[in-house]
Amino acid sequence: MSAASVSKKLRQKVARHAKQRCGYCLVASSITGIELQIEHLWPTSKGGLTIEVNLWLACAECNQRKSDRTRVVDPLTKKEVPLFNPRQDGWQDHFHWSDDGTEIIGLTAVGRATIVALQLNRPARIGTRRRWVSVGWHPPKD
Ligand SMILES: [Zn+2]
Repeated sequence: MSAASVSKKLRQKVARHAKQRCGYCLVASSITGIELQIEHLWPTSKGGLTIEVNLWLACAECNQRKSDRTRVVDPLTKKEVPLFNPRQDGWQDHFHWSDDGTEIIGLTAVGRATIVALQLNRPARIGTRRRWVSVGWHPPKD
C-alpha cells in the first residue's frame, strides 16, 4: 500500500509522535527541507497494515535501504537479529552519537546490525552531519 493511502490526519499523528524526524538516522525534515516518508515497520509485502501502530517516519534513504527487511545480521556476532523498530525500541538504548556527533555508534546487536543494513554512517551523511554540527543543528538534543 502506498504512502498516499495514509490519511493526512494519520500522517500528522505519526509525524508528531516521531518528532518529525527519521526513526533511524534521526534526520529532521526541518534541517534537510525534504519531507520524510511514512514507512511501514512491518512491511506491507509481509502483511503489514496501514495502521498507526505499524507506521513511523523515515528519510528516503533509510526507507529505501530498509525495504522489506525485518531481520538483519549483527556484524560482530554474525547472528541475525531484529531490525531496530523506532516505535517499540528506544533509540538511545541501541545507539549513541560519536563524540564529534557525526557517526552513529551501535550499543547492541540490533543497533550494530541496523547501522550496517541501513548504512547509517555513509560517508556523504557524515560530511553533512559535520556541517550541521558546526552550526549547532546536530546531534539532536533528545
Ligand atoms: Zn534516515
